[in-house]
Amino acid sequence: MDDKQHKKTQFALGYIALGLLVIFGVQYLMLRASTNQIPYSEFKQYLTRGMIQEVVVSETNISGTIEFSERDVQAFTTTRIDDPGLVEELENAGVRYSGKQSSSFLGSLFSLVLPIIIMIAVWNFMMHRMGAGGPGILKIGQSKAKLVADTDASKIKFKDVAGIDEAKEELMEVVEFLKTPGRFEELGGRMPKGILLLGAPGTGKTLLAKAVAGEAGVPFFNISGSEFVEMFVGVGAARVRDLFAQASGKAPCIIFIDELDALGKARGFNITGGHDEREQTLNQLLVEMDGFDTRKGVIIMGATNRPEILDPALLRPGRFDRQVIVDKPDREGREAILKIHTVDVKLAGDVNLNTIAARTPGFVGADLANIVNEAALLAARRRKKNVTMEEFEEAIERVVAGLEKKKRLISPKEKKIVAYHESGHSVVAESLPNTDVVHKISIVPRGIAALGYTIQLPTEDRYLMTQSELEDRLAVLLGGRVTEEIVFSDVSTGAQNDLMRATDIARAMVKEYGMSGKMGLMAYERPRNPFLKGDHWQSMEKEYSDKIASEIDEEVKRILDEAHDRSYRIIQENRDVIDRLANLLLEKEVVDREEFKSLIKIKSQ
Ligand code: ADP
Ligand code: MG
Ligand code: ZN
Repeated sequence: MDDKQHKKTQFALGYIALGLLVIFGVQYLMLRASTNQIPYSEFKQYLTRGMIQEVVVSETNISGTIEFSERDVQAFTTTRIDDPGLVEELENAGVRYSGKQSSSFLGSLFSLVLPIIIMIAVWNFMMHRMGAGGPGILKIGQSKAKLVADTDASKIKFKDVAGIDEAKEELMEVVEFLKTPGRFEELGGRMPKGILLLGAPGTGKTLLAKAVAGEAGVPFFNISGSEFVEMFVGVGAARVRDLFAQASGKAPCIIFIDELDALGKARGFNITGGHDEREQTLNQLLVEMDGFDTRKGVIIMGATNRPEILDPALLRPGRFDRQVIVDKPDREGREAILKIHTVDVKLAGDVNLNTIAARTPGFVGADLANIVNEAALLAARRRKKNVTMEEFEEAIERVVAGLEKKKRLISPKEKKIVAYHESGHSVVAESLPNTDVVHKISIVPRGIAALGYTIQLPTEDRYLMTQSELEDRLAVLLGGRVTEEIVFSDVSTGAQNDLMRATDIARAMVKEYGMSGKMGLMAYERPRNPFLKGDHWQSMEKEYSDKIASEIDEEVKRILDEAHDRSYRIIQENRDVIDRLANLLLEKEVVDREEFKSLIKIKSQ
């Protein structure tokens, strides 16, 4: 839909809404006018005088008609009063009477929802009309757009960022440019206009952008994509214009647009009409970036953790044409990050950051900062002089699985299911060669999702996985479900997440890793890794026939079935261990590695 047409439709919609409002208003008034609300006593008088023709009795009301004369029959309603003799009196007076459900469900829903819909429609309409070129009061949003440089940012340096060295290196160049924009030009270099930081939440994208500003000693203007979208219509676009105009006055500087995905979602049809504002803002951003001259020394940085949903237009040359991946830190990186965050923390002698780093694969900078903070809080609560390893251990667990919620009640039956489920995961993991070591099993409910969990510790960070490792992992994932099958002859919804993850792995084995004999080596899917550049962005649709698709599904199912059967055999063979482990879990709620090992040993003796 082009812009003009769009305006028109909105215009028409507005009028329809207004029209409806008028119709309903009139109807309401007419209804009011034609029925008299009379007191109950009056109704009883008419009744004894034999003037009532007929009544309809509902839960709260009595309505009907009064015959004043042959020609003058009027409708009335009255509020119902508890009156046990009424039916008899109606009977005696020979009045036709009937009962009525207070009001139909649909009717009441309608009468409730309709006005709200109308209100929203009218509101939307008015906002659109006024937002475009409206009166002064509605420009409040714009005056907020006054740019204030984030002063904190100037204090942050590259040394405050660790574990993401590659990203840091790429951004060094930007720092050089911002320090001496002229020199770059002389050498014939051209700076990218926009730099997009891609990475999971908490990996330090915002921190890194601030560090660039801090290192270069330039102002840092920070704005979040979602802020634009929350604003009134027309204001977002105006604000973008304003932002660029003001920033170019302060060059060299950095404009940082956080959560770019909130603003730059791929454009498309959206029935709520909410996309309209975002689209306008996005268009304005594109216009500004196109018309912008890097030579002025303004660098636009953006950050997102969902690059796959970004509008491709944002990534074209001359816009966010440089993409920097901010990875999750590896073990060494995690240790470095922990070091940064423990600088001002009093650590006990037993604290070994290396060990903590080893225990936290997959953690991002924000998680690690959180762990340090939690540990310090715990130590303070325990009135310790310094933070010991014990607090760190506990903090890790808290961050892993959300805060302990011992208070949450789960029924003994649920608890039993969870205990067996987790025992199943652990026993399968322990009996297969290519799996991570079971570190701890817990059925203390934490957070929302996990009722229980089994922590497996990878011996090292993984970049490659072999087929047998993936197959073992599948068996472990299905171990919980299988145990439920065997022990309870019934299954619960608790395995949902396991099944989802197992399916993802099996699907990737068939479609991406060439690990299914039947489907061969053909890659049926580009990696879902969104950090690919260039043309790969578009070509992610299905590139095979429906027949192949169903063959893939069959293969995925076969792999899952086989994993299920392996798991089944293991659980059956070790049924006694499962029982003992589940009972221990029910008793203690948490079983650590040593207790687990001793359980298994008893069996092998
Ligand atoms: P993102 O913007 O990627 O979601 P942030 O930059 O907001 O992540 O990170 C949040 C906090 O986590 C930072 O303020 C910092 O304290 C910590 N942090 C994250 N990544 C790192 C890192 N690589 N090095 C040091 N601290 C980090
Ligand atoms: Mg951020
Ligand atoms: Zn499970």
